[in-house]
Amino acid sequence: MELIKKYREATSRLILLDYDGTLVNYFSEPGAAVLPENLTRLLTDLLNTPNNEVYIITGRSSIGIDRVLNSLQINIIAEHGAVVRVNGLWKNKISDPCLWKGSIMPVLNRATLKCPGSFVEEKRFSLAWHYRNSDPATGQEISAELIESISRESQAADLKILNGNKVIEILKAEVGKGSAVNDLLEHKDFDFILSAGDDATDEEMFESLADNKNAFTIKVGNGETCARYKFADVFEVERLLQKLTG
Ligand SMILES: [Mg+2]
Repeated sequence: MELIKKYREATSRLILLDYDGTLVNYFSEPGAAVLPENLTRLLTDLLNTPNNEVYIITGRSSIGIDRVLNSLQINIIAEHGAVVRVNGLWKNKISDPCLWKGSIMPVLNRATLKCPGSFVEEKRFSLAWHYRNSDPATGQEISAELIESISRESQAADLKILNGNKVIEILKAEVGKGSAVNDLLEHKDFDFILSAGDDATDEEMFESLADNKNAFTIKVGNGETCARYKFADVFEVERLLQKLTG
């Protein structure tokens, strides 16, 4: 595989791994998706390899991702890029006072009432409405209604609506995995980039790397993608990490 060869030859590598649906499967209770021991070992090997910069890049909150990583000392891009942890230090990448939450929250609460099993999660810079544990048809219907009812206000407040895997998330339009990656590339040159993800929000990351000849982008699971490779599931990602560290 060309990817493995390029990895071995590279002198400065950037590895960007989404968490849920990419490294581990989805769980109905997000806190249950703890990083298994074998992956902890693989990530530790990657981290300890000279010339590697490894990031977990996720939509999860800082607390939510830290908890499932079992305090693994890895760099993290959380909340789709709004907060980052580099060398153990968390910092905010934006300074949004989030006044918009006041008017969006009641709409999400109404959706929750109409869709049993759904719930709202408030993060530092975003609001997420999760419907993973709801009746799929109801979840689908209410999520479409929800997007419709907040779209005008979102535009006016310069927000974006992420239509993810069983989650609708509202956050500042400037935030995204794409801009987070651009930010990293502005500060350093890499001759090998690996980026893997499974969801709509990962497409922004793939798009921002589309013209980069050193980038290997991988979409995990079904669906349209602008990634260069398609992997069937999290196990294929694990096998790749094994090959890189083996
Ligand atoms: Mg994911």
